[in-house]
Amino acid sequence: MAGPRARVKMPEQPPEVRARNFQEVPLGLTEELAIAEAEKCLQCKNPLCVTGCPVGVKIPEFIKLIKEEKFAEAARKIKETNALPSVCGRVCPQEVQCEAKCILGIKFEPIAVGYLERFCADYERDSGSTEIPKPASPTGKKIAIIGSGPSGLTVAGDLVKLGHEVEIFEALHQPGGVLTYGIPEFRLPKRIVQSEVENLLKLGVKLSLDSVIGKIRTVDELMDEDGFHAVFIGVGAGLPSFMKIPGENLNNIYSSNEYLTRTNLMKAYLFPTYATPVERGKNVVVVGGGNVAMDSVRTALRLGAEKAMIVYRRAMEQLPARKEEVHHAQQEGVEFHLLNNPVRYIGDESGCVKAVECIKMELGEPDSSGRRRPVPIEGSEFTMECDMVIISIGTGPNPIIFSSSPDIKLNKWGYVEVNPDTMETSKRNVYAGGDIVTGSATVIQAMGAGRIAAKAIHERLMEG
Ligand code: FAD
Ligand code: SF4
Repeated sequence: MAGPRARVKMPEQPPEVRARNFQEVPLGLTEELAIAEAEKCLQCKNPLCVTGCPVGVKIPEFIKLIKEEKFAEAARKIKETNALPSVCGRVCPQEVQCEAKCILGIKFEPIAVGYLERFCADYERDSGSTEIPKPASPTGKKIAIIGSGPSGLTVAGDLVKLGHEVEIFEALHQPGGVLTYGIPEFRLPKRIVQSEVENLLKLGVKLSLDSVIGKIRTVDELMDEDGFHAVFIGVGAGLPSFMKIPGENLNNIYSSNEYLTRTNLMKAYLFPTYATPVERGKNVVVVGGGNVAMDSVRTALRLGAEKAMIVYRRAMEQLPARKEEVHHAQQEGVEFHLLNNPVRYIGDESGCVKAVECIKMELGEPDSSGRRRPVPIEGSEFTMECDMVIISIGTGPNPIIFSSSPDIKLNKWGYVEVNPDTMETSKRNVYAGGDIVTGSATVIQAMGAGRIAAKAIHERLMEG
């Protein structure tokens, strides 16, 4: 769409350049572009955009501040309900949340809420105007947070401001959860996550890295021996799933979890400056259609793949990845082999994958998710040559904590059961939220759960 109501275009690195580097793809709005976009907002009396935001960001209010060129104030307005706007402005699926509800979208294009959110959060950080609030007087209560992903960081921020003593235990050597080990640098630069974590540390949050709870301490030990009055479990759902088909153990077949962790967290893309290597395939097949698959295939391109291919069993309109990421992948030259499903992997004499045998699929009746079920077409098997495969078909819960805490009730899939009003588990004063409760979801949902848990923990501990 062109004309005065057209949505602002995000400046980006050109596809042929960015497909070979790890720098961020969207470059961010200039002040002029941000103000021009903010001026289009109708400042609705009943802003539907807010109803589409899982944490109720005061969207018209922050946009009005941008229009008035009060950029740092706009960032502070967002932070009243969303602690990580520079992250959410980059990775939230706004197109199905706030922007999907924007009234302008009925006749024209919705306001670019995500771009504006990112703009003012970046402005606040880069101009050095981030304010670190003064925490309330000490309450004498100690809370342990297990996992430093978006749910854990949100709980930590909310509780430390209320005067509680907060310690985060993180299994990895870097904080941030998926924001650090999963989502690649070209979508979410790590300096941004780092700066959010540093702000929490300035508020007084303690961070213990390389600390796998369930191994070094149990939940009971944290509470009974270490004096924590409450525990929040935000350990995500990072255990990779496999299809369990023949040949899956061949060399050069990775889970996306291992592939992205090596590349992002261990900085394999900078090997040998960093010690961790990763295979650099020339013909790379990524199995799956979600954000994780898009991140993996675009990473493979940047690591030198000549052909980077998505193999997905459903059709284009059913790809679960964000539209923007699919569009970016297409622009960068990723091939989409849709309505295909792997049935076995074929190896060479040295045990490395050399091809994947797939079967063609067609769409049948809708399944329990409401999407039409992909059905194999008998006799349609064919092979695709490849020298590397990345499996990106989902993840599940890691049982490490729960095997040493059998009194925390899990559902039949191994996720934690909680009271949705408080996020308290079946064990008193132990709370949980994020992907370990819902299964793989979104950053903002994990943050929303963290916010509910923090409020409930505070109320419980202040009961007397
Ligand atoms: P996580 O972010 O998973 O963090 C959990 C943390 O707990 C990890 O750091 C882990 O090391 C730590 N941990 C685990 N076990 C222990 C233990 N026993 N002791 C101590 N620490 C432990 N969402 C979006 O909204 N937009 C996107 O574009 C998007 N892209 C994604 C791309 C990828 C590659 C992936 C994997 C996910 C993506 N998601 C996206 C989903 C989103 O990142 C998750 O929903 C969100 O990070 C979940 O947050 P969390 O706090 O529950 O846990
Ligand atoms: Fe502005 Fe759209 Fe929200 Fe109305 S619905 S306040 S136009 S962003």
